[in-house]
Amino acid sequence: MSGAYLSLKGVGKTYAVGGKGLGRTAQKLHAVSDVSLEVERGQTLGLVGESGCGKSTLAKLIMQLEAPTEGTIHLDGEDLTQLSGAALKARRQRFQMIFQDPFAALNPRMTARAIIAEPLVNYAVGTKAERERKVQDTAAAVGLGPEHLTRFPHELSGGQCQRVGIARAVALSPDLIVADEAVSALDVSIQAQILNLIVRLKAQMGLTLIFVSHDLSVVAHVSDVVAVMYLGRIVEVGDVDSVFNAPAHPYTRTLIEATPEPTPDKRGTRAPLGGELPSPLDPPSGCAFRTRCAFAEPRCSAERPLLRPFNGPRQVACHLAQKVNDVMDAPAHG
Ligand code: SF4
Repeated sequence: MSGAYLSLKGVGKTYAVGGKGLGRTAQKLHAVSDVSLEVERGQTLGLVGESGCGKSTLAKLIMQLEAPTEGTIHLDGEDLTQLSGAALKARRQRFQMIFQDPFAALNPRMTARAIIAEPLVNYAVGTKAERERKVQDTAAAVGLGPEHLTRFPHELSGGQCQRVGIARAVALSPDLIVADEAVSALDVSIQAQILNLIVRLKAQMGLTLIFVSHDLSVVAHVSDVVAVMYLGRIVEVGDVDSVFNAPAHPYTRTLIEATPEPTPDKRGTRAPLGGELPSPLDPPSGCAFRTRCAFAEPRCSAERPLLRPFNGPRQVACHLAQKVNDVMDAPAHG
């Protein structure tokens, strides 16, 4: 096993779909397939891809909110998939989640104070007075004043609700935070504030962060390492500069072209991503991206490309990565 702080090996998640009633057979939905990733302590991994690519499912698997169908997830050398009951509850203090919808994630019958205090109460941290002090300190750290602590979620704005959700996530001083589309439900004017708050807390607390988003500009802003997912698989993973400044997989290239930011110098030079994401119930043979890839060859339907090292600190799953990049980066003539 590697020495990485978080290490995923061959992680997959399959759901049985349909199959109820006479004569109906269940189909297998491959939400996540054969994902192997390593994250060093203190790093931020950005997980990016279109809606439905499996990134939120992968976040839930890392958080042990769902059990993987296959593979292992080691945190600090311990396989989380082997834990259950009290042992898993004890480890959960070390990894917490920030959810997409701040309203849905908060109990409407609890005040902000009670919500932030809940994990401290659950884990019997300190005395009542110590917990109150921790709640006030944590609230202040996320930009909430004493006046917010007596309010219920419906009395708070979306941004304030997300600050409460973040306070709850960091109250136990975890090592790892998984943020699943943590700003996408917020007004654009608020997104940057919450994003900067997460980045600041990460630095102050020495957190390891998994940042899940469909928004490449957000991922580029916060990440050290980026993993690009397509139909449940990682198709490109590497340091943020390599992936965003010199994307190697045709999917990463088109995803960046379809994004208003984050590489203005390269915007508008290539066609936006077309076509629909294929159904994970019936994924294409070979390379899952072949139905949308302008470079597909017969080999692409016959053989699944594996992640292989490509040009520096990055891996790419494409049979024709070198050829594609030679063609795309060739200077235009005429
Ligand atoms: Fe395109 Fe083939 Fe590469 Fe898949 S393996 S991305 S279909 S060129």
